[in-house]
Amino acid sequence: MTILCYHSVDPRWESPLAVEPAAFERQASWLRRSRRILPLAEALLRLDATGRLPRGEAVLTFDDGFTELHTYALPVLTRERLPATVFLVAQTLTPAGQAVDWVDTPGTEPLTTLTRDQVLEMQDAGVDFQSHSWAHRDLTQLSTAECVQDLRDSREMLSELLGRSVTLLAYPRGLHDRHVREAAAQAGYTHSFALPERAEEPGDHAIPRVGIYRGNGLLTVRMKVARPYLPLRTSERLNGGARRVKRLARRVTSRG
Ligand SMILES: [Zn+2]
Repeated sequence: MTILCYHSVDPRWESPLAVEPAAFERQASWLRRSRRILPLAEALLRLDATGRLPRGEAVLTFDDGFTELHTYALPVLTRERLPATVFLVAQTLTPAGQAVDWVDTPGTEPLTTLTRDQVLEMQDAGVDFQSHSWAHRDLTQLSTAECVQDLRDSREMLSELLGRSVTLLAYPRGLHDRHVREAAAQAGYTHSFALPERAEEPGDHAIPRVGIYRGNGLLTVRMKVARPYLPLRTSERLNGGARRVKRLARRVTSRG
């Protein structure tokens, strides 16, 4: 199973983070026909129950909660009946809001994020929302106390907005270290997702995902989905400590 990580679906933003709508439609259609796409929470349950990640299955996730997901991704996800999880930056949903100040390739027009109404509309349409921290800071640069506070604030605010418990976290830029993983657990998350550029030791708070970027053709997406993923055999390993797992380093063009 591969957990795919998209960011935006946007025709105008020429960035690795913004897949073109037509490409996304082709990818979604192919995934619908040739893979079983699971809701993220269900995939985690299967992982725990079997201790193994089934072949031929994939999960769709989107980081950052860009406005264009509502415009370009939602209609495709609805039409193809594909489950998906969007990881939100909680502060963008406060009355004061937060500008998108965390991308390396901002483009010519200001980037915007989903409104509360759009989030709730998408949730009603079946989209799952989880946490992408409070303010998209590099969590590895925070003290443990600051990190716990950031992640807890995000979890509590999003849980209140969504009317249900938020328990999953995608680290900003996929960056984490031991103190960040411990902070995530302390802040009440059950699982956290990374975006490794090279082999990382997987765990409940270091679940790898594969990024899909602008310009990735269907062949590239097929390769990324088919690539041997977490070579784990037992759920103990996910909960276990220091075990190196050899994986091919993945080349990605950008992270956000
Ligand atoms: Zn991000």
